[in-house]
Amino acid sequence: MTNLSPGPSRRRLLLGALAALFALARPRSAHAAAPTAPAGRALQRLEKWECTNKQCEPYVYDPSRGDLNAVDLDHPIPPGVAFADLPDGWRCPICNDPKKDFVPTGDWVEA
Ligand SMILES: [Zn+2]
Repeated sequence: MTNLSPGPSRRRLLLGALAALFALARPRSAHAAAPTAPAGRALQRLEKWECTNKQCEPYVYDPSRGDLNAVDLDHPIPPGVAFADLPDGWRCPICNDPKKDFVPTGDWVEA
């Protein structure tokens, strides 16, 4: 950005709000936000879990992806976290349902 002209402050506020919205809507870059897993971490076979709320797409928790936009948590869930190891406060990022509303999919991934 090389725009040095000071725009009206209202415009700046609007742009700031838009930027914040985009930051929320867009998956965070794994490089920037995720606590990095140890380089030599061994892969494990972990099961995907699916939200049972019919309003969901459905959302599937994929341990190879983690949940970098974890809602209700002040930290992202990095890849490699088994569903069982998710914090109790973790919730479906789509419908906000708690962990107990999830069921195993029978689909396993290397994570
Ligand atoms: Zn859900």
